[in-house]
Parts: sequence; C-alpha cells; structure tokens
Amino acid sequence: MDTLTRANLRARVRRLLATGVLPLRSDDQKLIGGCGLGQPCACCGGTISTSEVLYEIECPERSQALPMHLRCMEAWEIESRISGPGCSQRLVL
Ligand SMILES: [Zn+2]
Repeated sequence: MDTLTRANLRARVRRLLATGVLPLRSDDQKLIGGCGLGQPCACCGGTISTSEVLYEIECPERSQALPMHLRCMEAWEIESRISGPGCSQRLVL
C-alpha cells in the first residue's frame, strides 16, 4: 500500500507521536528487521506484505512490538527527533 506520500506519512506519524499512539524513538528500543507477514503497519496502517521489509520495534514499556515498513520506520525516526525532548521545535499540544 503506497498511497501515502512521504509528506503525508510524516504528518501522520507526527500525529501518532503527539497522541501517544507511537512512542518516541529511544535507545532502549530494540529494532528487529525481517519480512512482512501481512500485518498492519503501526505508522501508515497499510499491510506489510511478505515481499516487503518489516521492522519491529520492541519497547520496554509495551508488551507488543510495533511492526513498521522500512520507510515508515525512517519517518518515525525523523519525526521522533523533531518532536522529542532536547529540540527547539517542540510540538505545541
Ligand atoms: Zn507503513
């Protein structure tokens, strides 16, 4: 499912971060790469098919890993950096 443009994807990820659906990227999260199994992506909501690269994010505070497309994971990392602590561009909620 490639209907989201990069800008749309970034905006969506930003919203998910702001609402707490997605955690901010941090060093204590574990990233596991693999192949998709048809599960929904935590960022774009699209299916991660068996021909696509899958990243699973294991967060210590969550019991379930977050599956993401490679490009969604990249958008998540960028948006986490922008909206995370220590950055002047804080999100105003
Ligand atoms: Zn995705």
